[in-house]
Amino acid sequence: MKNTKKPVKTPAKAPKAAAKPKVAFFDFASCEGCQLQITNLGELLLDVLGAVDVVEFREAISEKWDGDYDVVFIEGSIGDHHAEERLKKIRARAKVLIAYGACACTGGVNGMKNSFELDEIRASVYGKDYKLFDSTPTKAIHQVVKVDYSINGCPIYAPELVEVLKSALRGLPYTVPDNPVCAECKLNENVCMYERGLACLGPWTKAGCNSWCVNNGNICYGCRGEVSNPAKNANDVISKYNLKPELIKAKFDMYNKCKEGVK
Ligand code: SF4
Ligand code: SF4
Ligand code: SF4
Repeated sequence: MKNTKKPVKTPAKAPKAAAKPKVAFFDFASCEGCQLQITNLGELLLDVLGAVDVVEFREAISEKWDGDYDVVFIEGSIGDHHAEERLKKIRARAKVLIAYGACACTGGVNGMKNSFELDEIRASVYGKDYKLFDSTPTKAIHQVVKVDYSINGCPIYAPELVEVLKSALRGLPYTVPDNPVCAECKLNENVCMYERGLACLGPWTKAGCNSWCVNNGNICYGCRGEVSNPAKNANDVISKYNLKPELIKAKFDMYNKCKEGVK
């Protein structure tokens, strides 16, 4: 007998959703303030979370991931042998590594440790048994492993983190602005701190934070690192206000003992 039944069509399989990039956040010696900037991103954070799969982030989730990472964010500086080994293991599992925050990019305030004899610092922190506790001079992340992207600042300027993540996910370069904070400060129509009798590091500091501190009534402390070629404006400021270059250098040391690019 002839089979009159129509063949049953198997439903077309829904296209498999592309796996989201696996992203993890790790912290070393830091105050965790840069992580807080991320958790405070608000709606922007929802956009970020929509594009990636956050698999480790101690500040926000308890999950752990044992596979490789597409992107890792590293906060904090390196100050002992264990941290150095841990960082190298993370690097070995990461396609892209982003150092974020002054501690990670330039040593940050932790770098001030390098202004003293190591044993002097150890004794003042750990007391007479200080030799029981491992401690090494502060290193920025690029001084231990290869860094693919840097997000400067103490803390980071969160919108910049989103820009850097977008660049990383597209495989595009991101360059930290190399013009001084003064350029942004002038656009924001702030009264210059020098006119108020305060020494501000804006002429020597990399922009990109939208002159955050000055907008809020403070000086710039140089947390985003030094511009590679300070404008003539910087020399004019030194002579006009009779500043000593040593003063500027000492102020920069607060965040920048482990300068970018120095191995
Ligand atoms: S860069 Fe500043 S805010 Fe970020 S972890 Fe270091 S000390 Fe904290
Ligand atoms: S020196 Fe400081 S306050 Fe003056 S313009 Fe530059 S960033 Fe702004
Ligand atoms: S104004 Fe200066 S100290 Fe403040 S966030 Fe910007 S670079 Fe850092």
